[in-house]
Amino acid sequence: MPARMLDGVAIGNQIRDEVQSLAAAFTDRAGRPAGLGIVLVGNDPASEVYVRNKIKAAGEVGLRADLERLPATASMADVLAVVDRLNRSDLHDAILVQSPLPEALGANAERQIFDAISPDKDVDGFHPINVGLLVQNRASVAAGTPSGVIEMLERSSIPIAGARAVVIGRSDIVGKPMALLLLHRHATVTVCHSRTRDLAAVAREADILVAAIGRAAFVTRDFIKPGATVIDVGINPIADAATVERLFPAGSKRREAFARRGSIIVGDVHPEVAEVAGAMSPVPNGVGPLTVAMLLRNTLAVARQRAGLAGKAR
Ligand code: NAP
Repeated sequence: MPARMLDGVAIGNQIRDEVQSLAAAFTDRAGRPAGLGIVLVGNDPASEVYVRNKIKAAGEVGLRADLERLPATASMADVLAVVDRLNRSDLHDAILVQSPLPEALGANAERQIFDAISPDKDVDGFHPINVGLLVQNRASVAAGTPSGVIEMLERSSIPIAGARAVVIGRSDIVGKPMALLLLHRHATVTVCHSRTRDLAAVAREADILVAAIGRAAFVTRDFIKPGATVIDVGINPIADAATVERLFPAGSKRREAFARRGSIIVGDVHPEVAEVAGAMSPVPNGVGPLTVAMLLRNTLAVARQRAGLAGKAR
């Protein structure tokens, strides 16, 4: 039997509806909407799309979202000046700096800029203070993508407590917070990376397998315990026809999409995994919509926290 497909769009819409009602209550109380400042440096085409989607989604649920654009030639001082202005703004409760940053800013730029965001406005939970709070299971927000994965599992009634969870990927923005969020929900968690020996065998132990690698269709059926839940975080643009033909059968919707657009997005999980897994998140329309929904929820959470409303029903 093919795997149950976990519907990121439907779950994302559910979360957005919840945020919308709380956002209206916040606006009533505060006399202004909860505000998100987004900093975009340069013109990375994928980032342009992500940022546009985030701003549109924020507006749709009654949040304020302002875009601060900087050219690809911006210096570190320019970016830090914008972050400092948002830190001091009374209209902005939450700050997001879109990654990746231009390479010209240097290898350590992301860390330096994330560290400069005021911890109480750090909507992604990337500041070291918030990472520490996450480790101790007392963070009010955690990174959007792994938080979205948790929502996907919980709202799809997939048990986490007691499950064996394997996370492939150990980045600060996905793999590590993912592992901690699963651990806090009482999964037994293994984190894998490029030096893991016999990766497929480790992955095969998982009741819940999360792939956050950045390699198209890397996770094949031999990684999967039959019936396992497989969550695909990967976003890999494919512009080469041979790869599309290898992954998707003739006449499939994905091949048609490729023929129309000349490129498609595929996940880290091979489509053949659907024949073995019990449940699986698709790419697109899996984790992606949840990342945006969790950004909205996190914006509201930090706004409520700053306004002293955390813990109150509305
Ligand atoms: P990243 O920082 O590049 O981390 C990739 C991780 O995968 C690293 O820990 C790396 O191991 C591991 N890895 C790479 N090759 C491997 C291999 N052959 N075997 C085992 N592990 C391997 O990427 P990221 O930012 O975490 O993102 C991962 C993927 O998720 C990307 O496709 C990204 O676009 C996507 N993403 C999606 C969303 C969403 O909203 N859906 C959000 C964020 C990211 P080492 O540490 O040993 O190098």
